[in-house]
Amino acid sequence: MAQYLEIKAQHEDCILFFRLGDFYEMFYDDAVTAARELEITLTRRDKKNPIPMCGVPYHSAKGYIEKLVDKGYKVAICEQMENPREVKGMVKREVIQIITPGTVMDGSLDESSSNYLMAITRDREFHIAYADISTGELKVTQCTEEILFNELASIKPSEIIVNESLDKTLNERINQITSVISIHNASADVMPSQAADLPAASRQSVQLLFDYVTTTQMRDLTHIDNARYYHAVDYMRLDMYAKRNLELTESIRLKTKKGTLLSIFNETKTPMGHRLQKEWIERPLIKKGDINRRHEQVALLNDHFFERESLRERLAEVYDIERLVGRVSFGNANAKDLVQLKYSIEQLPAINHILNEMKMPDIPAEAVSGLADLLQGLEEEAPISIKEGGLFKTGYHQTLDEYREAAKNGKQWLSEMQQTERERTGIRSLKVAFNKVFGYYIEISKANLHQFDAEHYGYTRKQTLTNAERYITEDLKEKEALILGAEEKLVDLEYELFLDLREQVKAYTMDLKKIARRLAELDCLQNFSQVAMKNDYVRPVFNERKLSLVDSRHPVVEKVMSKEEYVPNDCTLDDDQYIDLITGPNMSGKSTYMRQVALISIMAQMGSYVPCSSAELPLFDQIFTRIGAADDLVSGQSTFMVEMLEARNALKNATADSLIIFDEIGRGTSTYDGLSLAQAMIEYVHDHIKAKTLFSTHYHELVQLEETLSGLENIHVAAKEYKGELIFLHKVMPGAVENSYGIHVAQLADLPLEVIDRANTILKQFEENSENDRQDTLQSAGLDQTEAPQLTFNLFDSGIEETIKQLDIARMTPIEALLKLQELQDQLK
Ligand code: ADP
Repeated sequence: MAQYLEIKAQHEDCILFFRLGDFYEMFYDDAVTAARELEITLTRRDKKNPIPMCGVPYHSAKGYIEKLVDKGYKVAICEQMENPREVKGMVKREVIQIITPGTVMDGSLDESSSNYLMAITRDREFHIAYADISTGELKVTQCTEEILFNELASIKPSEIIVNESLDKTLNERINQITSVISIHNASADVMPSQAADLPAASRQSVQLLFDYVTTTQMRDLTHIDNARYYHAVDYMRLDMYAKRNLELTESIRLKTKKGTLLSIFNETKTPMGHRLQKEWIERPLIKKGDINRRHEQVALLNDHFFERESLRERLAEVYDIERLVGRVSFGNANAKDLVQLKYSIEQLPAINHILNEMKMPDIPAEAVSGLADLLQGLEEEAPISIKEGGLFKTGYHQTLDEYREAAKNGKQWLSEMQQTERERTGIRSLKVAFNKVFGYYIEISKANLHQFDAEHYGYTRKQTLTNAERYITEDLKEKEALILGAEEKLVDLEYELFLDLREQVKAYTMDLKKIARRLAELDCLQNFSQVAMKNDYVRPVFNERKLSLVDSRHPVVEKVMSKEEYVPNDCTLDDDQYIDLITGPNMSGKSTYMRQVALISIMAQMGSYVPCSSAELPLFDQIFTRIGAADDLVSGQSTFMVEMLEARNALKNATADSLIIFDEIGRGTSTYDGLSLAQAMIEYVHDHIKAKTLFSTHYHELVQLEETLSGLENIHVAAKEYKGELIFLHKVMPGAVENSYGIHVAQLADLPLEVIDRANTILKQFEENSENDRQDTLQSAGLDQTEAPQLTFNLFDSGIEETIKQLDIARMTPIEALLKLQELQDQLK
């Protein structure tokens, strides 16, 4: 236990798998956690010593480790470093590897997403370096605190490494994004060669990353690419709220792909393409030239239906080259992996042929043409293990063929021997067989033994069983040596040849990575084209400052209804009219409309076509959103607080080139607070930011702003009443809505009819009374209209004020509020 505690103290943040004979044991809190997560039995060490413990057999530990790492734990593997039989006393033990969510190489890796490990360091700014160890990708950038969190939201690392100098509050914020934070201080002062071309300040983060991986994995990292430095400002800026609210790659509620923008772009054919697609969605471009390049290639693909189809068929035959290459360089690729690599590069000539037909730039395939030849010798159906032979085809290597021949001939000889011995002895059931302990033998069953003279036939008895005797002969012994020798040599030689071949493949790493990257891009572009054709998208045009969408649709919502059902809408915003204030009953389609404008802008800038009949767009530098009531339960913030944080982010960072989507600001607080905040925000955006803005509201008072703010116009989503029922037209029209139809929506929600009827009566009374009161009050006071509000407040002097103060408006339904109001009014009558 002393040894255990000493080792555990060095690995506090890991679950320590402590090797004891054939088991890995866990103790104390580790045991409690592991027993719960792995559903294994928790025991006590012994009665005197009630330390909680649990264990897993070492030969099946892999699955358990993967499960823990998958759940976000780190696992330290502590092995016995000496043979217990050879030492007296305590066996030496050491941690030989630490497996963490960011450093897993195989097993449970999801092929549809990258698995990033990120290191963050700080001087005046933040420096981040992140790598996917399974593919060798390494990226580096430098940013402010604000952008750091945007980056974290799009990269979604599975593990973050910081050094001790990063301050506590920041760590807490990071903790909200991933729970797997490793505090690590670079021990060695070695600068990895991959960081050589970086600006000096950025090298620290790469160094931290590498040092962490080498100390936890205890292997070298030559397969990691040279760092690629990028500027976050080269992409459209989407903060974490926008990414979440717009459901780009993950739905808000279920955190799944269903219902997201990514789910629309589901026509990729390769795992690399799928991962890159996700990145393209998370990082729309902002340079017109880059975007147009993508659009042009999509246009070419659209024009070539048959070529696109054949291209898609070919891409479907391409395996995950990035991860295969990662395994080759990491030294854990098997023969199956290399066969997959071979199939993949065999597709290249055909792919290039198709690209030429379409006049698209081809893939640099010549660089690896020798590789396909090199891999021809591999057996297509090779086993997973590389230590049991069966890896190469006949003809790959002369000596190998000779051994095989010898082994095969030996077996042939054995079956012939069985035949001749049967004839010689006249025993038809005589068998020539093999087992691991005794080698080859001749077996004669008991029934045949009574008249059998072993010596006569030159048989020597080797083993007696209850119902048979086993013998050997000189000849058989000789052949045995030959056969076993050949098989052993065969397996050894295959293994050696395989390692040698893998080394040769390694030389192609860089070329293969380039090819993989190009194939991934091509896959994304054909995906864009396929999706555009399938869903009737058009190519967007970029201009300086105007947004004009004709017949635009929400790409996700339109998919869940039939074509006729979805009502397309226009949207126009320019430098003179840059704020649309949207009113309309609940459920009429306000959010859908606003989201679709944001999604279309993102799609356009990622290089895709868009769901419109024509689309003209400016290049947005950033998109901000404040949508829906998604309680941020994870970080423990209330709905209203999240609302204000989202709004703050927009007001602080938006420019005249940004797009702001504000859906129902101020809902989470009392009416007057909410209304005042909403109006103040609109005025601020109008006067200071001038960003293109869509602002939906249920505060009717705000529609008056059109008169004072020249850049603002009212629009509404139409609904109409027909025979007492509300019909949603989902059509966006100029002007403000006249009626909020709240009770109609309640009716749709199937509230008891009595409640609906009563509410209608109350509403009618309320409307009449308020008009009468107003007239009365105005007349009796002899005041003109502008002074009227002041007077209404005087009514509160009647002692009702206290009752009103006590009301918890945020917790009341509109109906309850109406009832309360009537009660108060009755008291005043
Ligand atoms: P609001 O924000 O006004 O409460 P939503 O945008 O949430 O309304 O829309 C409510 C529902 O109306 C959506 O779930 C969708 O099914 C439907 N809807 C919205 N816009 C359209 C449209 N343009 N055409 C057809 N149905 C629509």
